[in-house]
Amino acid sequence: MTRSATRAAEGDPRRDAALRAAVIDGCRRLVRDGLVVGTAGNVSARRDADHFLVSPTGTRYEELRSDDVALVDLSGRWHGARRPSSEWRIHRDLYRARPEIGAVVHTHSREATALACTGRAIPAFHYMVAVAGGTDVRCAPYRAFGTQALSEAALAALADRRACLLANHGVLCVGTDVEAALGLAVEIEDLAAKYRIALGLGGVEILSTAQMREVLDRFASYGRQDGTDPDLVHAADPPPGARGDPR
Ligand code: 13P
Ligand code: ZN
Repeated sequence: MTRSATRAAEGDPRRDAALRAAVIDGCRRLVRDGLVVGTAGNVSARRDADHFLVSPTGTRYEELRSDDVALVDLSGRWHGARRPSSEWRIHRDLYRARPEIGAVVHTHSREATALACTGRAIPAFHYMVAVAGGTDVRCAPYRAFGTQALSEAALAALADRRACLLANHGVLCVGTDVEAALGLAVEIEDLAAKYRIALGLGGVEILSTAQMREVLDRFASYGRQDGTDPDLVHAADPPPGARGDPR
């Protein structure tokens, strides 16, 4: 290894420890929230321009220790006590192709995976589909787990999106950090369950592209405390019923 590669592999120990903890916490939350069973799924966090930290392959999440989280570079060289996830190619290719991504979460969550086993995408049946960044959540065609072909299919399905389904396999979510990617995995599972129920009722109304564009525009400022609304005024006086207020 060159000296600069050695230095990169050393990194900032405090930041590395925090990222390893985030990956381990993420894995444990997948189990706690019922998004995976056994050793299914994987979690990673970008460490720097050339490296990411990823959960090890085939490990029971309850037993994960900091050293078990593998440090992998974009050429596939890895460091650590345990071999990285068999899906390291998906993680590597996403970090390589999409600089805005800070974390990747893969699950086999029940509802979304069941839907993916029918090859269906999640269409704009509910406005919250916009949480994944677009007008639908695509479903990538089936490819065997751990293959470059699966990575390529997943990256295509994720174009302009933060989540996709993987046919006959599971779900892939990305975010700026592990918490964001995990939160999205929970949202996708919830949307898949609602979509299944709506399909069962029949007559699902799909929102138009124009309606979803409006939602996506509104999402840009949703939840922000510095948001503006011309009809909403932050009152400066005490609320009615407050002490000293006769009303
Ligand atoms: P790993 O245990 O190798 O991360 O694989 C789990 C998985 O979900 C494969 O798609
Ligand atoms: Zn999987």
